[in-house]
This record gives sequence, structure tokens and C-alpha cells, in this order.
Amino acid sequence: MKVYGAIESGGTKFVCIVGTDPNNLLKEERFPTTTPQETIDRVIGFFQPYADRGALAAVGIASFGPLDLNIASPTYGYITTTPKAGWSQINLHGDIQRRLQVPVAFDTDVNAAAFGEQYWIPEHKLLDPFLYITVGTGIGVGVIVNKFPLHGLMHAEGGHFALPHDWQRDPFQGVCPYHGDCLEGLASGLSMTKRWGQSPEHLPDSHPGWELESDYIALALVNMIYAYSPQRIILGGGVSQHPGLVQAVRCKVKQFMNGYIQSSMLMERIDEYILPPALGNRSGALGAIAMARVLAARLL
Ligand SMILES: [Zn+2]
Repeated sequence: MKVYGAIESGGTKFVCIVGTDPNNLLKEERFPTTTPQETIDRVIGFFQPYADRGALAAVGIASFGPLDLNIASPTYGYITTTPKAGWSQINLHGDIQRRLQVPVAFDTDVNAAAFGEQYWIPEHKLLDPFLYITVGTGIGVGVIVNKFPLHGLMHAEGGHFALPHDWQRDPFQGVCPYHGDCLEGLASGLSMTKRWGQSPEHLPDSHPGWELESDYIALALVNMIYAYSPQRIILGGGVSQHPGLVQAVRCKVKQFMNGYIQSSMLMERIDEYILPPALGNRSGALGAIAMARVLAARLL
């Protein structure tokens, strides 16, 4: 039997999985992200037995970025300018492909999550463009267009959308090292922790921080709806799981659009349009399995 590999590479941990689909995962391991050499050695060790006996058809990598996804670039498959110490200019895709000798699909963690949510959930299959946004420690956006993750100059960086910032209501300067008060700067979990002096998990339901948070996320989604015209938006990540947040965002998206987009999906059925991830916090890893499957099928 052929199996597929998934690598979810994050700034704090790596998750490796072997399986064929979400209901048939054969082995899974997670370990902390240390040096590139040590971490990649452990990845290889995990997959090697399957590769050695010819069972591993392909591997998908869902990685923290930024990444070089331009296939014509000499640094294709590299993690490029990450602030994560030691991980800048690391040839993650190339190293793993060379050492395992199997085809390797490579994309951002959020593009993989978007891909997984569309690929594995039957109701999402025909919805295109398809958008996934995660609001956790950071904010990332994955976009699927014509069945594949959107790549251009690089990949979509919707986490850094510029937002209207009312300095009187919210005098916080933001946490993005590049922009200060971009979307991630104002609405990430990190920004909430810095602004309020406590992490979002500990912020009471009645705290005004949640009103501000749903405003910023809704403003960002309105811009994303104008820009990409997605047929579905998945709102994932730890901060989004706060009770009532998704519902507040839905109401505000409608309110901010003010009837401009004449779609019944937005006007009447927004509860079906902005959804929590069907795969929970597994969208990225299961998306990487899906990427591996699609790559293997294309190479047949
Ligand atoms: Zn930014």
C-alpha cells in the first residue's frame, strides 16, 4: 500500500504524519523545533522506514514562512527571511526531497490549511476561490484559486493587511516589526497580550478587547472579500475559538459591507459563509497529506 507523508513545520514544533487520509493515519510524531540540522534529521528518521521500502508516494510540507515558492527561482523551497533564529535561507524542501528521494509538495502552513479544508470536506470541494484565515499568536491567510494555492510574486500575506486604526479608541501602536499597526500588529494573539497585559485565553468575555478584536477581524475579512471574492471563508486559530467571536465577526462583516456585495450568501446566509475549520486544528497537517496526494497523482 502507498502512503503519504505530512510535515507541519512550525516555529515551536514539527508534526510528522504518515497515512492515506484523515481516517487512516498510521503514525504521528511531534518534536520541538531546534536547529535546522537536528530537526530535519528527526523528520528524515521518521519517514525513512517508509521511504526505504518504497511505500512513501510523496510528502507534503506545510511550513512557517516566508517561503520561496517560485519554481524557477534558485532558492525555490527555502524558508527565506524568518526571524526564527538559524532558520533563514534554509532549503527545507530540497533537503527533505534529496534525502528521502520522493516527490515533495511545499507551501505555507496557511495555504496548506486552506487546501486541506477544501480537499477533504465534500461540501467545500467546488467552492473556489476558498479562503482560510488563522488568528492565533500571529495571523496568516491562505488562498485557493482554481483548486491550487495562490502563488504570485510569492504567496498571499493577508496577515499584514493595512486597516483603519482609530488611535483614540485604540492607542496601542501594534506589534508587527515591519508595519506596527497592520492586521497582525493590531489583532494577533501576541498584540492582545501586549495591549491588555494578559493573553487572550485569560481575557474575560466582557472585556472591551473582544469588541475591538472582532472589529479588526471583520474589517480584514471585508477587504479580503472585496479582493478575492471567496466562496467560503474559514476562520481558524486559537483566538477565533473564543466563544462568540465568529458570530460577532459575521455580524460586523455584514454591517461594514452595508449591502454593497449583492450576494444572498452574505445578506442571508453568512452563518454558512464564515465558518470555523471543519478539520479543527488539523487543517494544516491534513492539508499537507492532501498536497502529497495531489502531487503524486500529477506525477503518475
Ligand atoms: Zn505587518
